Amino acid sequence: MSRGLAVVGVGGLGAPAAAALAAAGTSRLTLVDHDVVEDSNLPRQPLYGTGDVGRPKAVVAAERLRRAHPGLSVDAVVARVDAGSARDVLAGHDAILDGTDGLDAKVLLNETALALGTPLVHAGAIGFEGQLVSILPRESACLRCLFVELPDADEMPTCQQAGVLGPVVGAIGLAAAREALAIGSGRRPPLADRLAIFSGRTLGWRTIELRRHPRCPACA
Ligand SMILES: [Zn+2]
Repeated sequence: MSRGLAVVGVGGLGAPAAAALAAAGTSRLTLVDHDVVEDSNLPRQPLYGTGDVGRPKAVVAAERLRRAHPGLSVDAVVARVDAGSARDVLAGHDAILDGTDGLDAKVLLNETALALGTPLVHAGAIGFEGQLVSILPRESACLRCLFVELPDADEMPTCQQAGVLGPVVGAIGLAAAREALAIGSGRRPPLADRLAIFSGRTLGWRTIELRRHPRCPACA
């Protein structure tokens, strides 16, 4: 039986991803987000409306998805995933989908997925570009295989600082759901060992072949 899929961050990436996972017939979802819905979220976060402003995203998203898909079991976790809580919150899932914003959270999810041995769909978007890769712990390249040296936090602005194009996060979120569905059904995801990059300027995808780094600080 499926242990379900966890979506961490139910914003621009995670909201369309969660909607796609639910629509595809996923039986169990865990939605994790500490944030509340803000007016500025509404143009690119399809599960929320003006009446939801100020309410926790995880709770609102869970309500919407339960209403639309009565057979779906959804847990809402209103918490920030941090080093102390990540393993407890995310244990027991078939896959984790990273819908967070910011490098620190993404590095933590990578470490957590490796520690749990749970596949992770890493997704990120900034400005006109988004990227996506699936990480099969100790089998395919992890996030730190790409970034053996972590860039300075100020070299890697968050979406909140740099802005992001709604259709770009939407495209990345839906593609991330496709990866998580493959993992959830026991298939190898198309983007293991392949980083997909989407350009909102050309509306084109390109992929870069990856390989595990022999001196990866996280998975070697
Ligand atoms: Zn690695």
